[in-house]
Amino acid sequence: MADLSTEKMVPFLDLSLQHDALKDEIENAIQSVFKDSSFVLGPALKKFEEEFAQYCKVEHCVALNSGTAALHLALLAMGVGPGDEVITAANSFIATAEAISFCGAEPRFVDALLDTANINTDMIEQAITHKTKVIIPVHLYGQPAEMDKVLKIAAAHKLMVLEDACQAHGAVFHGMRVGSFGHAAAYSFYPGKNLGAAGDGGAVVTNDAELAAKITLLRNHGSEQKYHHDIIGHNFRLDSVQAAILSAKLPYLDLWNKKRREIARFYNEKLTGLYGVSPVRAIVDCEPVHHLYVIRTADRDLVLQQMKEMRIASGIHYPIPIHLQPAYQYLDLKEGAFPVSEELSKSVVSLPIYPDMPKADQERVVAAILKASELMKSRS
Ligand SMILES: *Cc1c(COP(=O)(O)O)cnc(C)c1O
Repeated sequence: MADLSTEKMVPFLDLSLQHDALKDEIENAIQSVFKDSSFVLGPALKKFEEEFAQYCKVEHCVALNSGTAALHLALLAMGVGPGDEVITAANSFIATAEAISFCGAEPRFVDALLDTANINTDMIEQAITHKTKVIIPVHLYGQPAEMDKVLKIAAAHKLMVLEDACQAHGAVFHGMRVGSFGHAAAYSFYPGKNLGAAGDGGAVVTNDAELAAKITLLRNHGSEQKYHHDIIGHNFRLDSVQAAILSAKLPYLDLWNKKRREIARFYNEKLTGLYGVSPVRAIVDCEPVHHLYVIRTADRDLVLQQMKEMRIASGIHYPIPIHLQPAYQYLDLKEGAFPVSEELSKSVVSLPIYPDMPKADQERVVAAILKASELMKSRS
């Protein structure tokens, strides 16, 4: 038997292989920005915006310095402010709710579906009030939310839709890229995302020229012309260096997503039907991009312990649903308010997945989950 104590750790994510392979392209991209010293709002930014809009099959892209800024400015541009409510998923990263709060509006959470972990679209309608302005479906883990249902509800109630596509670059729903369904979509280029910068980054994509113009103003101190400020804005611009790096990486995104899908297929094949383990599954007629590969387990402590013993990194997305975070206690939402999200927070485990993940590492992950499943079964 292998000596586990000296065996190399299986990392949750390893970006170094990807960066080594693109070393020249990335260095040239950085050099080109230095050459003309246009570090802020330069041609590299415009170039990336055009490329990413084209990739998402939408008219406009406004690049920003984070995914959180993208959600925030999209909501501001949609006119969200104090007294308004915005509907989103309780089972998401907190940034989705923070963006709502920073507009002075209130988040209204909707519970998840147990088998997809995504927003339960059948529960959106009951969260709508006369104050509701926007619905933010989250394409969680890189799996599209049920956009047909979201759009239908939004149209019936005259609400706007902002897709949180921060985990879903390139995902496809009913034959179309996510990010092209709503009035706008927010992306994050945080390093670990499917398309990641060398630091923070984000973007809003939209087919609405007015929204794009408003967000462009808001990201740069409300200014079109230097020292003339039409509205009170922010400094939420994406650095040109980051834009140039993203342009160098974008041509590989589809290939990287394909590799993620192959790993997810391998995991699905090996882990479906195991005792005490259920892979979170995507809805039908869509192509997820597996930002994360998540399983639900009957005994999470045991699974985490087994992975640790076999030197495999793991994650939990997310251990506390947003409504139970200390930051949102003022909403007075107690345990039991969103039972499915709460159940997920206690049972999910994210397994290592990234495009260049070695097959041997994938096999070690499977072996650990098989072993954990056997242990769960023997103890039941
Ligand atoms: C990463 C992420 C964000 C925020 O993006 P940042 O670039 O880190 O600000 C928002 N929503 C979801 C679902 C995310 O995963």
